[in-house]
Amino acid sequence: MNPIRLLLLGAPGSGKGTQTSRLLASFQHLESVSSGDLLRQQIQRKTELGRIAAAYISDGRLLPDAFVTELVHNELSTKGWLSPKSSWLLDGFPRTVTQAKSLRSKLTPHKASLNMVVELDVPESVILDRIENRYVHVPSGRIYNLTYNPPKVDGLDDLTGEPLTKRPDDTAEVFGKRLDSYRQTVTPLKKFYADIGILHKVSGETSDIIFPQLLDIIQKKLKHV
Ligand code: ATP
Ligand code: MG
Repeated sequence: MNPIRLLLLGAPGSGKGTQTSRLLASFQHLESVSSGDLLRQQIQRKTELGRIAAAYISDGRLLPDAFVTELVHNELSTKGWLSPKSSWLLDGFPRTVTQAKSLRSKLTPHKASLNMVVELDVPESVILDRIENRYVHVPSGRIYNLTYNPPKVDGLDDLTGEPLTKRPDDTAEVFGKRLDSYRQTVTPLKKFYADIGILHKVSGETSDIIFPQLLDIIQKKLKHV
């Protein structure tokens, strides 16, 4: 089988994290890296990186490209995922063309380039609604939604029993900024990957509608090319 090296693109709240969990459950050999989760873990551990990141995140601003590139590259490298056989998916990185170019230059020597980019296209009315009800388990990145996907025990992660938290950037005000910055950066990023010939798009209002489309794209990739 071909390796999967997938980037999930989508507005904040479009369900990248949810689709990631479902894909990890479907493909045993698949791993995932979420730049947002890595940053939130740094913040929770009160590291120097976390201290810097917190100021940007609470404001809905993107971190400097070099900062995030280093963080994600470091994760891929320490986990041993810079290899041609590795299968992983990225959520939240690359977010700018500069990041995309840096990542490409880091992956190419290892013959571990991205081979799929999928845009999750979800109506904005739907995502706004989701954000307000979203809770996260920071160490794992597991996401809950009080309406669609509540935890078994109120306020606690299903697997570890540890507390869930509300993201400080999931407020109406900061969310608006995140959406703006997504809109500004996604068009050139999509063009970058469309030019390489690996950009796909799936559309729908719910994760249940999106997931089978995403599976279909991945399964085709696994069998061909
Ligand atoms: P969601 O998690 O709802 O899909 P999102 O994609 O906006 O929304 P995260 O990916 O968790 O959220 O990112 C949260 C914040 O972390 C961003 O608003 C930004 O400040 C910072 N961040 C995450 N990834 C990057 C990146 N690749 N480049 C710059 N900043 C980033
Ligand atoms: Mg996310």
